[in-house]
Amino acid sequence: MSSSVSRLVYISSNRIEGDDAAVRDAIDDILEKARKANAAVGITGALMFNHGCFAQVLEGERDHIEKTFERIQCDERHSDVVILSFETVESHIFSSWSMGYVGEDQEISQAFDSIRSTSGFEAANLPSEHIFNLLKERLVEAESDSARRQNAA
Ligand code: FAD
Repeated sequence: MSSSVSRLVYISSNRIEGDDAAVRDAIDDILEKARKANAAVGITGALMFNHGCFAQVLEGERDHIEKTFERIQCDERHSDVVILSFETVESHIFSSWSMGYVGEDQEISQAFDSIRSTSGFEAANLPSEHIFNLLKERLVEAESDSARRQNAA
């Protein structure tokens, strides 16, 4: 992977309506299109949906991240999009996923609940590092599980 990689992390509120199945279908649609578009421009990353919030990590060339994020920001399936960080990093963390996915998880639901109630989704009040670490822990774990499953198949 290139030595100049940018990483953007954001959090947002879900605006997809309907029951759990409808939300899951909409997320499947987002993932299917995101994976194709991201793979075409070398973006990797992961999306988490929990307790009415999305959190996403996008890694790749800065220009591609900016263009992709412009589209994501305009998407009416979510709102209150808050960037937690956008920085140059040494390498991709999610190197094998054009867009990995982690769904509902009790511990993360509780953390998001508390983040939502204490921050009111105001960027200045959001514990950015804590959210990123939470994401990294769960997503790296899920990525390793997925790699293990693929190797075993
Ligand atoms: P088009 O597909 O031409 O759609 C036109 C407009 O309609 C866009 O504003 C689009 O956002 C909106 N739209 C499209 N489908 C629906 C729908 N089913 N319901 C409501 N509105 C819709 N895209 C990526 O390329 N990479 C990602 O990593 C990525 N992550 C995402 C994460 C989240 C949480 C969300 C909500 C969306 C994500 N998307 C991602 C999708 C992205 O927002 C765009 O929809 C997609 O990139 C297509 O963009 P487009 O300009 O070609 O729109």
